[in-house]
Amino acid sequence: MTKSALITGITGQDGSYLADLLLEKGYRVFGLRRRTSVPILENIQHIEKEIEFIDGDLMDLSSLIHAVKIANPDEVYNLGAQSFVGTSWDQPILTGQVTALSVTNMLEAIRIVKPSARYYQASSSEMFGKVVETPQKESTPFYPRSPYGVAKVYGHWMTVNYRESYNMYACSGILFNHESPRRGIEFVTRKITDAVARIKLGLQNELRLGNLDALRDWGYAKDYVECMWLMLQQDKPDDYVIATGETHSVREFCEIAFGHVGLDYQKYVVTDPKFFRAAEVDLLLGDPSKAINKLGWTPQKTTFEQLVHLMVDSDLGKVKRISN
Ligand code: GDP
Repeated sequence: MTKSALITGITGQDGSYLADLLLEKGYRVFGLRRRTSVPILENIQHIEKEIEFIDGDLMDLSSLIHAVKIANPDEVYNLGAQSFVGTSWDQPILTGQVTALSVTNMLEAIRIVKPSARYYQASSSEMFGKVVETPQKESTPFYPRSPYGVAKVYGHWMTVNYRESYNMYACSGILFNHESPRRGIEFVTRKITDAVARIKLGLQNELRLGNLDALRDWGYAKDYVECMWLMLQQDKPDDYVIATGETHSVREFCEIAFGHVGLDYQKYVVTDPKFFRAAEVDLLLGDPSKAINKLGWTPQKTTFEQLVHLMVDSDLGKVKRISN
Protein backbone atom coordinates (compact mmCIF):
# COMPACT_ATOMS: atom_id res chain seq x y z
CA MET A 1 0.00 0.00 0.00
CA THR A 2 1.25 3.46 -0.88
CA LYS A 3 2.20 5.46 2.18
CA SER A 4 1.49 9.15 2.40
CA ALA A 5 3.44 11.84 4.15
CA LEU A 6 2.66 15.44 5.00
CA ILE A 7 5.64 17.79 5.10
CA THR A 8 5.56 21.30 6.53
CA GLY A 9 8.42 23.54 5.43
CA ILE A 10 8.56 21.69 2.11
CA THR A 11 10.07 24.64 0.22
CA GLY A 12 13.02 24.84 2.62
CA GLN A 13 16.32 22.99 2.47
CA ASP A 14 15.31 19.96 4.54
CA GLY A 15 11.74 19.75 3.24
CA SER A 16 12.94 19.59 -0.34
CA TYR A 17 15.53 16.86 0.31
CA LEU A 18 13.01 14.89 2.33
CA ALA A 19 10.44 15.20 -0.48
CA ASP A 20 13.08 13.87 -2.92
CA LEU A 21 13.73 10.91 -0.63
CA LEU A 22 10.08 10.05 0.02
CA LEU A 23 9.13 10.32 -3.67
CA GLU A 24 12.00 7.96 -4.48
CA LYS A 25 10.56 5.55 -1.91
CA GLY A 26 7.16 5.69 -3.60
CA TYR A 27 5.30 7.86 -1.04
CA ARG A 28 2.47 10.22 -1.90
CA VAL A 29 3.93 13.50 -0.73
CA PHE A 30 1.71 16.33 0.49
CA GLY A 31 3.26 19.71 1.21
CA LEU A 32 1.75 22.45 3.33
CA ARG A 33 2.08 25.68 1.38
CA ARG A 34 1.85 29.14 2.90
CA ARG A 35 0.50 31.84 0.64
CA THR A 36 3.13 34.25 -0.67
CA SER A 37 2.58 36.80 -3.44
CA VAL A 38 5.49 35.30 -5.37
CA PRO A 39 5.94 31.52 -5.04
CA ILE A 40 9.19 30.36 -3.41
CA LEU A 41 9.84 27.17 -5.33
CA GLU A 42 13.58 27.21 -6.05
CA ASN A 43 14.34 24.09 -3.99
CA ILE A 44 11.43 22.01 -5.26
CA GLN A 45 11.07 23.15 -8.86
CA HIS A 46 12.32 19.77 -10.11
CA ILE A 47 9.57 17.85 -8.24
CA GLU A 48 6.83 20.49 -8.17
CA LYS A 49 4.45 18.40 -10.26
CA GLU A 50 4.85 15.34 -8.05
CA ILE A 51 4.01 17.12 -4.80
CA GLU A 52 0.38 17.56 -3.76
CA PHE A 53 0.19 21.02 -2.19
CA ILE A 54 -2.28 21.96 0.52
CA ASP A 55 -2.70 25.64 1.31
CA GLY A 56 -2.38 26.40 4.99
CA ASP A 57 -0.35 28.01 7.71
CA LEU A 58 1.28 26.50 10.78
CA MET A 59 -0.22 29.25 12.92
CA ASP A 60 -3.75 28.41 11.80
CA LEU A 61 -5.03 25.27 13.53
CA SER A 62 -8.10 24.94 11.30
CA SER A 63 -5.92 24.84 8.19
CA LEU A 64 -3.78 22.11 9.77
CA ILE A 65 -6.86 20.07 10.66
CA HIS A 66 -7.93 20.43 7.03
CA ALA A 67 -4.44 19.42 5.82
CA VAL A 68 -4.37 16.27 7.95
CA LYS A 69 -7.87 15.35 6.72
CA ILE A 70 -6.89 15.79 3.06
CA ALA A 71 -3.49 14.06 3.28
CA ASN A 72 -4.61 11.31 5.66
CA PRO A 73 -0.87 10.87 6.32
CA ASP A 74 0.96 7.88 7.71
CA GLU A 75 3.81 10.23 8.58
CA VAL A 76 3.98 13.94 9.34
CA TYR A 77 7.29 15.79 9.19
CA ASN A 78 7.11 19.18 10.89
CA LEU A 79 10.02 21.09 9.36
CA GLY A 80 8.39 24.50 9.01
CA ALA A 81 9.70 27.25 11.28
CA GLN A 82 11.24 30.70 11.48
CA SER A 83 14.58 28.95 11.25
CA PHE A 84 17.21 31.69 11.26
CA VAL A 85 18.78 32.39 14.67
CA GLY A 86 19.79 35.97 13.74
CA THR A 87 16.23 36.99 12.85
CA SER A 88 14.90 35.55 16.09
CA TRP A 89 16.20 38.58 18.05
CA ASP A 90 14.47 40.97 15.64
CA GLN A 91 11.22 38.98 15.63
CA PRO A 92 11.15 37.12 18.96
CA ILE A 93 7.37 36.95 19.24
CA LEU A 94 6.82 35.74 15.69
CA THR A 95 9.58 33.18 16.26
CA GLY A 96 7.72 31.97 19.36
CA GLN A 97 4.44 31.77 17.47
CA VAL A 98 5.83 29.95 14.42
CA THR A 99 8.69 27.91 15.81
CA ALA A 100 7.21 27.03 19.23
CA LEU A 101 3.42 27.30 19.41
CA SER A 102 2.83 25.91 15.91
CA VAL A 103 4.22 22.58 17.11
CA THR A 104 1.22 22.32 19.40
CA ASN A 105 -1.09 23.24 16.51
CA MET A 106 0.37 20.43 14.41
CA LEU A 107 0.26 17.91 17.25
CA GLU A 108 -3.33 18.88 18.05
CA ALA A 109 -4.39 18.52 14.41
CA ILE A 110 -2.93 15.01 14.39
CA ARG A 111 -4.42 14.09 17.76
CA ILE A 112 -7.87 15.26 16.67
CA VAL A 113 -7.91 13.89 13.10
CA LYS A 114 -5.48 10.99 12.90
CA PRO A 115 -3.70 10.09 16.15
CA SER A 116 -2.11 7.00 14.57
CA ALA A 117 0.01 9.16 12.21
CA ARG A 118 3.71 9.13 13.05
CA TYR A 119 5.17 12.55 13.83
CA TYR A 120 8.67 13.94 13.35
CA GLN A 121 9.62 17.22 15.06
CA ALA A 122 12.61 19.15 13.74
CA SER A 123 14.49 19.98 16.92
CA SER A 124 17.84 21.69 16.92
CA SER A 125 21.31 21.70 18.46
CA GLU A 126 20.63 25.38 19.22
CA MET A 127 18.71 24.02 22.22
CA PHE A 128 22.10 23.16 23.79
CA GLY A 129 23.27 26.78 23.35
CA LYS A 130 25.71 27.57 26.13
CA VAL A 131 26.67 23.94 26.33
CA VAL A 132 26.61 22.19 29.68
CA GLU A 133 28.73 19.25 28.46
CA THR A 134 30.72 18.25 25.37
CA PRO A 135 29.91 16.36 23.21
CA GLN A 136 26.19 16.96 23.43
CA LYS A 137 23.91 13.93 23.51
CA GLU A 138 20.20 13.22 24.03
CA SER A 139 20.51 13.52 27.82
CA THR A 140 22.49 16.79 27.81
CA PRO A 141 20.48 19.57 29.54
CA PHE A 142 19.36 22.43 27.31
CA TYR A 143 20.58 26.02 27.73
CA PRO A 144 19.24 27.91 24.70
CA ARG A 145 20.90 31.23 23.82
CA SER A 146 18.46 32.82 21.37
CA PRO A 147 14.69 33.26 21.01
CA TYR A 148 14.99 30.60 18.31
CA GLY A 149 16.67 28.14 20.68
CA VAL A 150 14.08 28.83 23.39
CA ALA A 151 11.25 28.21 20.90
CA LYS A 152 12.80 24.92 19.78
CA VAL A 153 13.05 23.72 23.40
CA TYR A 154 9.29 24.26 23.73
CA GLY A 155 8.63 22.28 20.52
CA HIS A 156 10.89 19.45 21.70
CA TRP A 157 9.16 19.07 25.06
CA MET A 158 5.69 19.33 23.53
CA THR A 159 6.62 16.42 21.24
CA VAL A 160 7.82 14.35 24.19
CA ASN A 161 4.71 15.35 26.11
CA TYR A 162 2.27 14.24 23.39
CA ARG A 163 4.11 10.93 23.15
CA GLU A 164 3.79 10.39 26.90
CA SER A 165 0.28 11.87 27.33
CA TYR A 166 -1.49 10.36 24.34
CA ASN A 167 0.78 7.47 23.43
CA MET A 168 1.35 9.05 20.02
CA TYR A 169 4.28 7.96 17.84
CA ALA A 170 6.10 11.29 18.11
CA CYS A 171 9.87 11.72 17.70
CA SER A 172 12.19 14.66 18.11
CA GLY A 173 15.30 14.75 15.94
CA ILE A 174 17.93 16.99 17.50
CA LEU A 175 19.82 17.92 14.35
CA PHE A 176 23.12 19.73 14.48
CA ASN A 177 23.81 22.27 11.70
CA HIS A 178 23.28 20.76 8.29
CA GLU A 179 24.04 22.54 5.07
CA SER A 180 23.83 22.12 1.32
CA PRO A 181 23.54 24.10 -1.90
CA ARG A 182 19.86 24.55 -0.95
CA ARG A 183 20.69 26.32 2.35
CA GLY A 184 19.31 29.85 2.71
CA ILE A 185 21.80 32.56 1.86
CA GLU A 186 21.58 34.14 5.34
CA PHE A 187 23.29 31.17 6.98
CA VAL A 188 27.04 31.50 7.30
CA THR A 189 27.97 28.52 5.09
CA ARG A 190 25.96 29.62 2.04
CA LYS A 191 26.93 33.23 2.66
CA ILE A 192 30.58 32.14 2.41
CA THR A 193 30.25 29.82 -0.60
CA ASP A 194 28.15 32.35 -2.54
CA ALA A 195 30.75 35.07 -1.80
CA VAL A 196 33.61 32.79 -2.82
CA ALA A 197 31.92 32.25 -6.19
CA ARG A 198 31.29 35.99 -6.68
CA ILE A 199 34.83 36.92 -5.66
CA LYS A 200 36.32 34.26 -7.92
CA LEU A 201 34.25 35.56 -10.83
CA GLY A 202 35.22 39.17 -10.12
CA LEU A 203 31.76 40.30 -9.01
CA GLN A 204 32.58 41.07 -5.37
CA ASN A 205 35.78 41.96 -3.56
CA GLU A 206 35.18 41.28 0.13
CA LEU A 207 33.12 39.17 2.50
CA ARG A 208 31.87 40.70 5.75
CA LEU A 209 31.35 38.19 8.56
CA GLY A 210 30.83 38.16 12.32
CA ASN A 211 32.44 35.73 14.77
CA LEU A 212 34.99 33.59 12.91
CA ASP A 213 35.80 31.51 15.98
CA ALA A 214 32.36 29.95 16.44
CA LEU A 215 32.57 26.15 16.24
CA ARG A 216 29.85 24.06 14.62
CA ASP A 217 29.24 20.41 13.88
CA TRP A 218 28.29 20.74 10.19
CA GLY A 219 26.78 17.85 8.24
CA TYR A 220 25.19 17.46 4.81
CA ALA A 221 21.40 18.01 4.80
CA LYS A 222 20.84 15.32 2.20
CA ASP A 223 22.39 12.73 4.52
CA TYR A 224 20.38 14.02 7.49
CA VAL A 225 16.86 13.71 6.03
CA GLU A 226 17.40 9.96 5.76
CA CYS A 227 17.61 9.91 9.54
CA MET A 228 14.28 11.71 9.89
CA TRP A 229 12.70 8.94 7.88
CA LEU A 230 14.50 6.19 9.83
CA MET A 231 13.20 7.62 13.12
CA LEU A 232 9.63 7.03 11.96
CA GLN A 233 10.29 3.41 10.87
CA GLN A 234 11.16 2.01 14.32
CA ASP A 235 9.10 -0.14 16.71
CA LYS A 236 9.03 2.65 19.28
CA PRO A 237 9.24 6.44 19.02
CA ASP A 238 12.29 8.09 20.55
CA ASP A 239 14.52 11.17 20.34
CA TYR A 240 17.88 11.20 18.60
CA VAL A 241 20.88 13.49 18.17
CA ILE A 242 21.98 13.67 14.55
CA ALA A 243 25.48 15.02 14.11
CA THR A 244 28.83 14.18 12.54
CA GLY A 245 30.83 14.12 15.79
CA GLU A 246 33.32 16.65 14.37
CA THR A 247 33.51 20.36 14.94
CA HIS A 248 35.01 23.10 12.75
CA SER A 249 35.27 26.88 13.04
CA VAL A 250 33.73 29.45 10.69
CA ARG A 251 37.37 30.41 9.93
CA GLU A 252 38.18 26.84 8.84
CA PHE A 253 35.09 26.84 6.62
CA CYS A 254 36.38 30.04 4.98
CA GLU A 255 39.89 28.62 4.57
CA ILE A 256 38.66 25.50 2.75
CA ALA A 257 36.04 27.34 0.66
CA PHE A 258 38.42 30.04 -0.58
CA GLY A 259 41.23 27.46 -0.92
CA HIS A 260 39.05 25.36 -3.21
CA VAL A 261 39.17 28.11 -5.86
CA GLY A 262 42.83 28.96 -5.20
CA LEU A 263 42.24 32.04 -3.02
CA ASP A 264 43.47 33.03 0.45
CA TYR A 265 40.48 33.89 2.70
CA GLN A 266 42.57 36.33 4.75
CA LYS A 267 42.71 38.71 1.80
CA TYR A 268 38.93 38.93 1.47
CA VAL A 269 37.24 38.28 4.81
CA VAL A 270 36.49 41.40 6.88
CA THR A 271 35.06 41.19 10.39
CA ASP A 272 31.96 43.35 10.86
CA PRO A 273 30.33 43.88 14.31
CA LYS A 274 26.95 43.97 12.56
CA PHE A 275 27.09 40.19 12.17
CA PHE A 276 27.92 39.36 15.79
CA ARG A 277 25.05 37.88 17.79
CA ALA A 278 23.49 39.31 20.96
CA ALA A 279 24.39 36.01 22.64
CA GLU A 280 26.64 33.50 20.91
CA VAL A 281 26.70 29.73 20.87
CA ASP A 282 30.47 29.21 20.94
CA LEU A 283 30.74 25.48 20.41
CA LEU A 284 28.52 22.68 19.18
CA LEU A 285 29.68 19.10 18.91
CA GLY A 286 27.18 16.27 18.75
CA ASP A 287 27.47 12.64 19.79
CA PRO A 288 25.50 10.60 17.22
CA SER A 289 26.16 7.18 18.91
CA LYS A 290 22.49 6.47 19.62
CA ALA A 291 21.47 7.10 15.98
CA ILE A 292 24.37 4.94 14.77
CA ASN A 293 23.54 2.07 17.11
CA LYS A 294 19.75 2.12 17.07
CA LEU A 295 18.94 3.43 13.59
CA GLY A 296 21.95 2.00 11.78
CA TRP A 297 22.66 5.47 10.43
CA THR A 298 26.07 6.42 9.04
CA PRO A 299 27.23 9.96 9.80
CA GLN A 300 29.77 11.63 7.54
CA LYS A 301 28.76 9.88 4.36
CA THR A 302 29.83 13.24 3.02
CA THR A 303 32.89 14.66 4.80
CA PHE A 304 33.26 18.28 5.90
CA GLU A 305 35.71 19.04 3.11
CA GLN A 306 33.48 17.39 0.48
CA LEU A 307 30.52 19.40 1.77
CA VAL A 308 32.38 22.72 1.49
CA HIS A 309 33.61 21.82 -1.99
CA LEU A 310 30.20 20.77 -3.29
CA MET A 311 28.64 23.99 -1.98
CA VAL A 312 31.32 26.16 -3.59
CA ASP A 313 31.01 24.28 -6.90
CA SER A 314 27.24 24.69 -6.87
CA ASP A 315 27.47 28.43 -6.18
CA LEU A 316 30.07 28.87 -8.92
CA GLY A 317 27.56 27.31 -11.34
CA LYS A 318 24.66 29.42 -10.03
CA VAL A 319 26.56 32.73 -10.11
CA LYS A 320 27.88 31.98 -13.63
CA ARG A 321 24.32 31.30 -14.84
CA ILE A 322 22.95 34.50 -13.28
CA SER A 323 25.80 36.74 -14.48
CA ASN A 324 25.76 35.48 -18.08
P1 GDP B 1 23.20 28.76 13.45
O1 GDP B 1 24.18 27.88 14.13
O2 GDP B 1 21.87 28.13 13.27
O3 GDP B 1 23.08 30.10 14.08
O4 GDP B 1 23.74 28.93 11.94
P2 GDP B 1 24.44 30.14 11.18
O5 GDP B 1 24.99 29.59 9.92
O6 GDP B 1 23.51 31.30 11.04
O7 GDP B 1 25.63 30.60 12.14
C1 GDP B 1 26.66 29.72 12.50
C2 GDP B 1 27.74 30.49 13.26
O8 GDP B 1 28.41 31.36 12.36
C3 GDP B 1 27.22 31.38 14.41
O9 GDP B 1 28.04 31.16 15.53
C4 GDP B 1 27.40 32.78 13.89
O10 GDP B 1 27.66 33.75 14.90
C5 GDP B 1 28.62 32.61 13.00
N1 GDP B 1 28.76 33.67 12.00
C6 GDP B 1 29.87 34.46 11.81
N2 GDP B 1 29.64 35.35 10.84
C7 GDP B 1 28.36 35.16 10.40
C8 GDP B 1 27.57 35.79 9.40
O11 GDP B 1 27.99 36.73 8.73
N3 GDP B 1 26.30 35.28 9.21
C9 GDP B 1 25.82 34.22 9.95
N4 GDP B 1 24.60 33.75 9.70
N5 GDP B 1 26.56 33.63 10.91
C10 GDP B 1 27.81 34.08 11.14
